[in-house]
Formats: sequence, C-alpha cells, structure tokens
Amino acid sequence: MIYLDNAATTPLLDEVLDEMLPYMKENYGNPSSIHKLGRQANNALDLARNRISKLINAQGKVVFTSGATEANNLALKGLAYAMRNKGNHIITGSVEHEAVIEPCRELERGGFKITYLAVDRNCVVDLNALERSIDEKTILVSIMFANNEVGTIQPVKEIAEIAHKHGVAFHTDAVQAVGKIPVDVKEIGIDMITLSAHKMYGPKGIGALCINNGLKIEPIMHGGGQENEIRSGTQNVAGIVGMGKAAEIAMQKIDMYSNNVKNLRDSLVTSVLKNIQHSKLNGHPTQRLPNNAHFTFLGINGEDLIIKLDETGIAASTGSACSVQKQKASHVLKAMGFSHEEITGSLRLTLGIQNTKQEIEQTIANLNKVVHELREFSPYKFKYALNQ
Ligand SMILES: *Cc1c(COP(=O)(O)O)cnc(C)c1O
Repeated sequence: MIYLDNAATTPLLDEVLDEMLPYMKENYGNPSSIHKLGRQANNALDLARNRISKLINAQGKVVFTSGATEANNLALKGLAYAMRNKGNHIITGSVEHEAVIEPCRELERGGFKITYLAVDRNCVVDLNALERSIDEKTILVSIMFANNEVGTIQPVKEIAEIAHKHGVAFHTDAVQAVGKIPVDVKEIGIDMITLSAHKMYGPKGIGALCINNGLKIEPIMHGGGQENEIRSGTQNVAGIVGMGKAAEIAMQKIDMYSNNVKNLRDSLVTSVLKNIQHSKLNGHPTQRLPNNAHFTFLGINGEDLIIKLDETGIAASTGSACSVQKQKASHVLKAMGFSHEEITGSLRLTLGIQNTKQEIEQTIANLNKVVHELREFSPYKFKYALNQ
C-alpha cells in the first residue's frame, strides 16, 4: 500500500515503540508514587518534557493530555474560565480544526463571544481583520500554525505581534507543523501551543499543551492534581515516553521534510498539474507544509476518487478525517470561497518520510488513469473529457 494520508496520522516508528515497551511491561510504576518504580516513571516523564521543550524551544510548562483535541479544549476553556473577569471575547479562525471550532462553539453557548476570522483564497488569515476585531474584552487569539487540509502556513509571528501589542495571549494549534517545519515558541512569541504525538510518528492518544510561565489557566479535568494541577489523571507513561522519543528524532526529520519529502511533493504537484486537465493546486503556492498536496479535479467526486485510488493501493483523503465521516462539505474550502463543484472534486495527498520516489511515480500514473476513468462517467463529461 502507498500511504499518502500522513496528515490524518503517521506510522509509529520502531525506535519510538522500542522506548515505549518497557513502560508497558517492567517499568509499570505510577509517576506519583514515592518509591523507586514511581520515581523511574516520573523521570521518564521529565525526559519527555525536556525533549519536547527542546524541539520547539519552549521554556514553560509541558502539560500532557490525551491528544491535541484535549489540549485545544484545555487552552481555550482553561484560559476563558481563568480570565472571565477580564473579558469574554476570543478570536479564532474560520479554517481551524474542529478541535478548536467546537470548544469555541461550546464557549459561545456559555456566554463567551467568538470572532471567526475570514481567510483569503489561499487560506491565509486576514491580519487587518484580526487587528480590527481586538477590543478591550479580548482575552485570547487562537490561530493554527498550519492548516490540516490545504497545508497553508499562517503568518503566526505577525499574529503573535498583533495580539501582544494589545496585551492579548496567543495560542496556536501546531499539530501539523511541529516535526515538519521549524517551530520556535520563543522567537515567534507563542503563549500556548498544542501538539499531538501521532502526527509526528509517535503513538495515538497522547498530546501536550505547552504553556508559558506567567500565563494562568484553569483545569478542565479535576482530580488528583497531576501535571502541575492543570490536568488530573494518572499519566499515560508509555505514550508520553513515545511522544518524547518522537520529539527527539523529529529534529532530523525536519531536514528530511525540507529536502526529500518536499522534492517528492513538488514532483507530484508538477506532473499532476501538467498531465491532468482541469486540475489545480489548493492552498498557498509557497507558504505551505512541505508534505501537503491538495488538488481539485473539476467534474468528479473526490470521494469516488479516494475509493478508486484505494482499489489501486493508494491511501488518500478529501481533507479532514472528521468531515468525511459526517459527509459534509469542508468548512475550510467553503471559507476559502470555493464553489460546490471545486469542493466536491478535491483530494488531499499528504506525504511522510517513509514515501519513496517509486511510490510517487506510481501515484502519478494511477491518479491520471483514475481521474480520466471517473470523468468518463461524470455528468460533466462533455465539459471536461473532450480536450484530454
Ligand atoms: C489531528 C489534528 C488534531 C486532533 O489531534 P488528536 O491528537 O487526534 O486529538 C487537532 N488539530 C489539528 C490541526 C490536527 O491535524
């Protein structure tokens, strides 16, 4: 199988699993226990925290959660509840992952006011609109680092500067960026950052929210007071160890992404646009993740395309995993101003460090064949099939 859905999840690396296994077997201590077995587990958590902090140059607390969804909920609700006396207004983007949009909707039901910033056709957030939306009640700006569907990288440094100029904290969901492009929390000025292990060759079910010292948030999970009183519950030690190892080796992977992976992606994009009529690349042409190729093929249905590609041994996606199950049009492509036809014909191919040149060549050939076959049966046949 040719796996081109690395934005949905990445395979677990052997060296990551090897470090995890002892913590599922002989090193079973509870990190809160005082005895030796407990201290061993707690030391393993500290090592993981250090490796993650180093990867993103973060100085503050690393709070482990069950994944990025929980980390985003914690960032948004935790800060909103801690600052409700100062203000009730949060600014986010219209193209955020559901794990940001839905907690914002929940906060709206609880009386908070949320601004969802518009984006342009390349999916870039409108900085003027950001500046205009900030008022004296604004307590947080939350904008993703890079989009999970079309791969556009947001101008996070400018966003952080605008937020800070008005004394507002900045949170970013950096799940798709960390481990693929350099992310420097200090240099950019990020106050809270969300990570997920399974998008960077670590295990599923573990993530983190890194919080700058000085920023206070309220817990959303109450109990034994683990994770600095911010996230109660006995830690997923093996998962955390795996996330730490994945973070440690991510440094070298970033080099692979900016060379091998990016070159393969570029060759894929170039030949698709050249060989398949009425196709186009979506997302920002240059400010985009090195592994993301998101296309529209007019006149066909992206879900039919995925099924056909699957039959030829290629794993692809239309966009976010969540929107496929709900069978609803992508809110990201809608916000980018795409027509119904453009949204319907969309396909996301996301590469990983494991993909080879032969795999990409095979993908180009299969895609060509399958798109032409589907257009033969398309109601738009006469519009698009003739000049192929
Ligand atoms: C995958 C993803 C999430 C959700 O991560 P989980 O760890 O699976 O909860 C959140 N945000 C973005 C941008 C993602 O790509």
